Amino acid sequence: MDRAAVIGFPVEHSLSPKIFAVIAECLFYEKISVPPEKLQSFVEANQGNYVGWNVTVPHKEAIIPLLSELSLEAEEIGAVNVVHGTKGYNTDYLGVIETLREHEVDIRRKNVLIYGAGGAARAVRYACSKLGAAKIYVYNRTPGRGMDLGIRIDCVDQAEDAISLLVSATPAAVHPLPKYLTENAKGFNLLYYSEADPFAGISTLKGLDMLVWQAIYTFEIWFGPLKNKQELKRGILSKISI
Ligand code: NAP
Repeated sequence: MDRAAVIGFPVEHSLSPKIFAVIAECLFYEKISVPPEKLQSFVEANQGNYVGWNVTVPHKEAIIPLLSELSLEAEEIGAVNVVHGTKGYNTDYLGVIETLREHEVDIRRKNVLIYGAGGAARAVRYACSKLGAAKIYVYNRTPGRGMDLGIRIDCVDQAEDAISLLVSATPAAVHPLPKYLTENAKGFNLLYYSEADPFAGISTLKGLDMLVWQAIYTFEIWFGPLKNKQELKRGILSKISI
């Protein structure tokens, strides 16, 4: 039986094993807690034992120097959430694109504000650029991080243009709202294992949709193309519960 795993720290909350149990009954998928100081030894000792791994917080950037090759997207994003063999990939950005598409959120020529500057924020920024967003503002708790990500602001009111999409790429329960929002502005909360609604009063897309989409695209990297992805995604959502 093929083996795969999600590696992170902490990793107990991960829903990936449940998702992969629906996608592929014959895949043995584990959650493995790998502390940062053990990442290198884990990668060196285990690469041949798995068809691949999902990589989650806090390893998405740290794993890059431990891999022999990156997909173009992972290289451009600067974060890896899937490993196959010794190559790193990014499917988080595809999760963002598919979630926006299925909820008919069109961000072409619209302004986006991303909260956070970690690996997930990098994937969101890449997805928004691919979708033709106009300005992409980035607001992060720690000043100085994510300077290369977009228009870095130190306070949300520094966003001078009306924002159409607010994206939380942090575990924070609440975010300050910017001064200027478009009438139909949407939120998108990447955090999927919390009931928190970080953008008070704004209709917000769920991180669970993104998580399922990135898993479907992960499976395709490991095993090849899947048919009827939309139907599969609906089936996964109906079978997993938080
Ligand atoms: P990361 O690389 O560790 O980055 C975490 C980011 O969150 C950093 O910008 C950090 O700011 C910020 N942050 C942490 N705690 C905060 C707090 N209490 N208040 C405000 N900002 C805070 O993690 P990541 O991989 O980017 O993941 C970020 C979030 O997205 C996680 O919650 C993760 O579960 C979620 N995510 C969801 C999916 C999905 O498929 N739905 C995929 C990927 C990630 P500093 O720089 O100041 O530390």
